[in-house]
Amino acid sequence: MDNPASPAILKGMEYDTDIAIIGGGLNGPALALALAQTGLHVTLIDALPAPERADPAFDGRAYALALASTRLLRNIGVWDAVAQHAQPMHEIKVTDGRAGEGPLTPFILHFERGALEEGPMGHMCEDRFLRCALNEACTKASGINVIAGDAVTAQTDASGAMALTLGSGRALSARMIVGADGRTSGTAARAGIRRSGWDYGQTALVCAIAHELPHNGIAHQFFMPHGPLAILPLPGNVSSIVWSEDTQTAARFAALNDEDFLHVLRPRFGDFLGQISICGKRYTYPLSLSVANQFVAPRLALVGDAAHGMHPVAGQGLNAGLRDVAALAQVLSEARQRGEDIAAPDVLKRYQVWRRFDTSTLALTTDLSNRLFSNDNPLLRLGRDLGMGAVSALPGLRRTLMREAAGLTGDLPALMR
Ligand SMILES: Cc1cc2nc3c(=O)[nH]c(=O)nc-3n(C[C@H](O)[C@H](O)[C@H](O)COP(=O)(O)OP(=O)(O)OC[C@H]3O[C@@H](n4cnc5c(N)ncnc54)[C@H](O)[C@@H]3O)c2cc1C
Repeated sequence: MDNPASPAILKGMEYDTDIAIIGGGLNGPALALALAQTGLHVTLIDALPAPERADPAFDGRAYALALASTRLLRNIGVWDAVAQHAQPMHEIKVTDGRAGEGPLTPFILHFERGALEEGPMGHMCEDRFLRCALNEACTKASGINVIAGDAVTAQTDASGAMALTLGSGRALSARMIVGADGRTSGTAARAGIRRSGWDYGQTALVCAIAHELPHNGIAHQFFMPHGPLAILPLPGNVSSIVWSEDTQTAARFAALNDEDFLHVLRPRFGDFLGQISICGKRYTYPLSLSVANQFVAPRLALVGDAAHGMHPVAGQGLNAGLRDVAALAQVLSEARQRGEDIAAPDVLKRYQVWRRFDTSTLALTTDLSNRLFSNDNPLLRLGRDLGMGAVSALPGLRRTLMREAAGLTGDLPALMR
């Protein structure tokens, strides 16, 4: 859908738009809304046609949205639409497990209800509800021009502006551009930004599971030798599973019919939620780490997976992306208030300094957790059990980790406070 902004907003500009955001997944629309609130004119471009982006079966993922992310969604005006489909996460239980044996008790780590005075650590929400709420808000917002079904194919830094060419042949000029085009970001590649990372040789099997007994808002993470199995509560007696296995095994399991799939899942899942059945479609996601070596270039910034694609083991990828969104919106808004050029190298460097170290550390921590836990080596098993035992025994340390998981630590952008 092409929704041209009011000519009044464009009047007097030497560009078609202040900021062109390439990528209308989740981080792109969130950034468009945050920037439009500051009075900047935004054009949001996505390669997928509007009906496909609005399809409720578009993506089987559900996200663990940290408390800080829900605050951002509230501040950009979409939380009310999302909250009615979201499940508060009251507790997180982490346990070791062996294939064929199910989860082992006692839990090696337990983040419990009521330990954070701010409320639940986070909420679970299905991709379809979050995506639709963000897209709908962008379509209605003044100051946001949405172009769907047209991909950016070229970008040039031309005399103080970025010139974009789209697949349809359409041309567009912007004061600066933002790459929110995912972990294979063409925006980064065209700017010559290289990436570091590797393939995990793992694939995530993702689907929703209906169960007989209530989950009581408790999220579970079972660490199995070939990869973690997360059981994440959704509204009703339904949970989303993210089950990482080595790629060959995952391909074999993905090819099974629902009944046979349940047969291999049951021993890993256990019987603590009673009878289980598959709800809807099953999806697979190959897992890799991919971090951009720079988050900025002349007149360009990267956010979300375009800047850092990480392992889903800690459920932090989107949360980190939304933190980029809040930080970039704040840096650009403050620069504008001071009368600076929003695309000046100094301004963009402030964003990079704020976000690059944090996200690279997070990406490496998730990488390390996956390596440490997706392993049946008895020494590593002993080491991690002792480490997790120490966390459980030290309430101060446990609380720090809970605040970290809720996204409340570090230099929080204003939109997340
Ligand atoms: C199995 C799994 C579970 C996960 N669970 C969690 C979780 O619990 N919590 C969490 O925080 N994160 C989670 N994540 C991570 C999260 O899914 C990602 O971080 C997030 O979806 C990235 O969003 P994005 O908007 O940056 O990129 P994407 O969603 O990849 O969007 C990129 C968009 O760019 C568009 N595009 C690409 N190229 C062009 C072009 N040339 N022109 C125009 N448009 C273009 C595409 O059409 C697409 O819409 C999970 C990931 C996986 C795989």
